[in-house]
Amino acid sequence: MYAQPYFDYNATTPCAQEVVNAMLPHFNEDFGNPSSSHHPYGWLAKSAVEDATLSIAKNLGVSVNSLVYTSGATEGINMVLKGVARKLQSKGKHIITTKAEHKAVLDTCAFLKEDGFEISYLDVNSDGLISLENLNNTLRPDTILVSILYANNETGIIQPFDEITKLVHKNGSLLFSDTTQALGKLDLTTILSQVDFACFSAHKVYGPKGIGIVYIQDNENRDALPSLIQGGGQQKKQRGGTINTPLIVGFAKAIELAYKNLNEETHRLEYLRNKLEAGLLQVETAISNNNGSQRLPNTIHMSFPYVDGASLLTALGTKIAISNGSACNSASVEPSHVLTAMGIERSLAFGSLRLSIGKYTSESDIEKAIEIITEEVAKQRDTNILWERR
Ligand code: PLP
Repeated sequence: MYAQPYFDYNATTPCAQEVVNAMLPHFNEDFGNPSSSHHPYGWLAKSAVEDATLSIAKNLGVSVNSLVYTSGATEGINMVLKGVARKLQSKGKHIITTKAEHKAVLDTCAFLKEDGFEISYLDVNSDGLISLENLNNTLRPDTILVSILYANNETGIIQPFDEITKLVHKNGSLLFSDTTQALGKLDLTTILSQVDFACFSAHKVYGPKGIGIVYIQDNENRDALPSLIQGGGQQKKQRGGTINTPLIVGFAKAIELAYKNLNEETHRLEYLRNKLEAGLLQVETAISNNNGSQRLPNTIHMSFPYVDGASLLTALGTKIAISNGSACNSASVEPSHVLTAMGIERSLAFGSLRLSIGKYTSESDIEKAIEIITEEVAKQRDTNILWERR
């Protein structure tokens, strides 16, 4: 383990020891293929997968038939967007999404555009929210799918799904929400009853990397979505490939642990998040980028004017595990598309930090983070002539 306090839980989380313990026997002792139907090795594996799926479905409050395992949220997003596009292209080729989605959605939409689909990108306002009026005006008879991120991975901002659902379904379009960041942080009963599709990833919730879920609300009709991956007919032909028993068992354990004390943990995180935000707002001219809107209990996003973001991050990198949410392209580093979509100017977007806390964050980590960041911002400003002349 590195010594720095970890403030990047939205990027990934450590696998909980209970999750590791639950998975271990399925790597060697109970190693069978769940599709081997002629011997006990296969029967045992099949029953472990069935038990895990039942446990996940119970905790999420959904039917076992609504869950399809994938390699993670990125694959899930590809499965839903490309699947709906392929299935419904004779009905229409128009898809709506937002400018503040995760790159997995934006890049899949760009791919579909190449294939002849028309994509409308909704703006977000300075609070990170879409305009319902704009959504309503953008919906068309040929809109087959609307894809809107539930809780933003950079800012934590949550979109108003009660109203979004009504508008989208009234138009006869399907609704997908990337719910990856909300799992284990919020109760998802309502959102899962509203959307047609959602997706999850175990490594965001103290489970293993390389396993995700696509939730399909009305999945009784088994050709609900054409499969992205052919071969072997596993998962009732919805996703080919040997079913990954250890990772599925691990994902189920991670969800079970998260749901055991969801409310308590949400309140604990909110308390620590508020303390962190209040502490960092003491830094002169600091701005919070997620004030006012409903948001995740574990995420804050702050801008520090008169600070060069790249040098701030480099200096902080040896002291605290943190991110700025900016996307690195091979040739250039651009500010976060989420922040620019919110109308935050480039120089300010560069001087921004995302801090995401989690299960293992303590009050003393919060105090340490405030101290380290406050000190470093002051140091950076000491050498900035614009700060002197402000
Ligand atoms: N969607 C959101 C909102 C995310 O935060 C992430 C993770 O970065 C993903 C999708 C992609 O998840 P995965 O790493 O499982 O492909």
